[in-house]
Amino acid sequence: MSTVNAPTVNAPTVDVDALVDVDEATARERDHRFVWHPWSPVRKDPGDGPILLSGTGYRVRDASGRSYLDAMASAMNSSCGYAHPDLIAAAERQLARLPHFDLSVGTHLPVGAVAERLAALLPGELGRTLFVNSGSEATEAAVRVAHGYWRNLGRPRNRIVTLAAGYHGTTLVAQHLSGLPTNATHAQAPFPVTRVEFPAEPRRLRAPESLAPLAGAFEQAVLDGEPPAAVFVEALVNVGGGVVLPAGFLRALRDLCDRSGALLVLDEVFCGFGRTGRMFGFDHDGITPDLVTMSKGLSGGYIPFAALSTTEAVYRTFADDPLIGGLRYGHTTGGHAVACAVALAVLDVIERRDLVTASAARGRQLLDGLLPLDEHPEVADVRGLGLVATVECHREEFAAVTVARARERGVLLRRQGRAVMAIPPLVIDEAGVNELVDAVGQAVAGN
Ligand code: PLP
Repeated sequence: MSTVNAPTVNAPTVDVDALVDVDEATARERDHRFVWHPWSPVRKDPGDGPILLSGTGYRVRDASGRSYLDAMASAMNSSCGYAHPDLIAAAERQLARLPHFDLSVGTHLPVGAVAERLAALLPGELGRTLFVNSGSEATEAAVRVAHGYWRNLGRPRNRIVTLAAGYHGTTLVAQHLSGLPTNATHAQAPFPVTRVEFPAEPRRLRAPESLAPLAGAFEQAVLDGEPPAAVFVEALVNVGGGVVLPAGFLRALRDLCDRSGALLVLDEVFCGFGRTGRMFGFDHDGITPDLVTMSKGLSGGYIPFAALSTTEAVYRTFADDPLIGGLRYGHTTGGHAVACAVALAVLDVIERRDLVTASAARGRQLLDGLLPLDEHPEVADVRGLGLVATVECHREEFAAVTVARARERGVLLRRQGRAVMAIPPLVIDEAGVNELVDAVGQAVAGN
């Protein structure tokens, strides 16, 4: 194949900086008047949230010149940190060559390369990948594939069994999977969903004795009623409160799915690519799911990107679909060439810098540093896995105050209900973890 030299890019004629750069008050007012923030209440005033201008490594800087340690990893997706030269170069090179081309007509080079790379990373036969733009779309695709698989076999199954506290996104299909308040919707469920409640409080769930009740609850949900198309779970429950599940749980689900025929779908949107100290969350149990959804860490927050991988056997059931395209699910920018190029660079950085091992080591340091907070009367539990640490408070108000105090100290934490979560980019170093531990400790102590 001929080489893919970038064409000459002429000097730009649009000065984007001139269109974007304004003083802080104008930026705030502009945002307030014109932007709809999906997860914020509608406000009467412009608010005082940080206006982020730039980032380097695991720190971001706002319009007032303040620097923050980003222990939210942006939207929990910054894996390689900010201003990474390899990721910027990968995007620039591909943008100059070819931003994208319609994958229903032909293909481009980065999509095949990243699909092959994922096939090498994923265990077993998970070698066939569909690319979309967000975790929710990957969930949507996974449910459609699960339903389509059973329809293709001539034995339609529609029910999905999942955790009530799970979170898989907010497109209509994804929204129906979860029982969390974030997922409350006025729409009718388009298919039956069985949501399994935790049989114990989150702080007890990681203990070995929680395995039997949790696995038993799934067994009952799967075996009672119409046979499910799929069991759909996260390896670590993220939005539902940073909940670490008992070791062996995913293995029990694998066995259950093998017995019942249900497909096992692992949502690795959050856990994937080193977040929990293993490449994938399901690696902790050494299992191979039938479908895997991926997003956040895969493009490290540099560009929207998500994927659904499955086996050739599942894929082939769509071969005889008489209508155009077996799946009939795809988007204009699915498999975007720039996103694929960035993801390839992300996977390279993760491998070269051994960020999965680093996540396990820095995660251990983070958890060890935070564990003493368990003694505090406002704290219900401290738990973690890899670079996900959760300080669960008894009261939501205390969690909110803790996050606000940490921000005052220059550390951005995430709050999910009563859970205060520290989720720094995987590139955080030992000194950064010490700073993070200190800030969380001071914030909980009220300093
Ligand atoms: N699945 C999990 C586990 C997530 O944490 C999220 C987002 O936080 C999603 C799915 C949805 O992804 P997105 O927000 O990209 O649609």
